Amino acid sequence: GQGKARTFLARPAVTKTGTAVRVQVNIADPRDVDTIDIATCDGVGLMRTEFLFGKTLPDEETQYRAYRKVLEWAGEKPVTIRTVDAGGDKPVPGFTVEEGNPFLGLRGIRLSLARPDIFRIQIRALLRAAPHGNLKIMFPMIATSAEYESAAALFAEERAALAARGIAQKMPPLGIMVEVPSVAIAPEAFTGVAFLSIGSNDLTQYVMAAARDNAAVAHLNSVRHPAVLRLIASVAAFGRETGIVVSLCGDAGGDPASIPSLLEAGLRDLSVAPAQLAMAKAAIADVPV
Ligand code: PEP
Ligand code: MG
Repeated sequence: GQGKARTFLARPAVTKTGTAVRVQVNIADPRDVDTIDIATCDGVGLMRTEFLFGKTLPDEETQYRAYRKVLEWAGEKPVTIRTVDAGGDKPVPGFTVEEGNPFLGLRGIRLSLARPDIFRIQIRALLRAAPHGNLKIMFPMIATSAEYESAAALFAEERAALAARGIAQKMPPLGIMVEVPSVAIAPEAFTGVAFLSIGSNDLTQYVMAAARDNAAVAHLNSVRHPAVLRLIASVAAFGRETGIVVSLCGDAGGDPASIPSLLEAGLRDLSVAPAQLAMAKAAIADVPV
């Protein structure tokens, strides 16, 4: 139970047979870190930035302050900030579009690339925050390597523009979410990325054709379906072959019932909701891999 699990919080996560597992946390708001002891985790594996995109679109300074706060809290530990994943189940007034099939529409990186005026503001805030910690950037909903190249090119352009104005900035490592089946099936198009992070929430819904927000099909939405696990295992193998770190930041990573399957699939790097951190570490300690 929770009491026993809490004793695991202070220690690094290891399996029953002594294999180290990196366990990071997912956050959705910079205030989340006020109640997390950085010593209990290996950094931030996913910082969602949609919270900033509420009733009005956030300006560069507001974003910069939010990112910098989390970077300074984490110190030398990595903080993986995801560029805005609007659309799908996350509508943003003034940004997302009305569409018939939003989970298959203009969401995540597709929308950011369609609205570079808005995306460039976030990019500048991230580049300026980067010198204040160990920042990594992650793009959501990547389906093709062309999307990654386009997003990386915008980062390079904005970096050069900031440097020309004498503004402090730094180019962080750029990685992608693996949450569209095209990437999980053919990852060899992405040998140039700095890291891969499996988004099991979306990957599962797209593999099973079962919307993540529809209770009527929730029984189909399992990361432990062999089709989903086989994809995860092949992405983990791709990571071992190429030396590209593969982590998982979907909700399954914090689910004690799914953790054995994820570790057996070859993953050694999970990012979980803060409330799941102790339970996840306790579950890892029971797995003989
Ligand atoms: C995922 O899809 O698993 C994920 C981590 O991203 P989100 O839940 O924000 O879509
Ligand atoms: Mg997702």
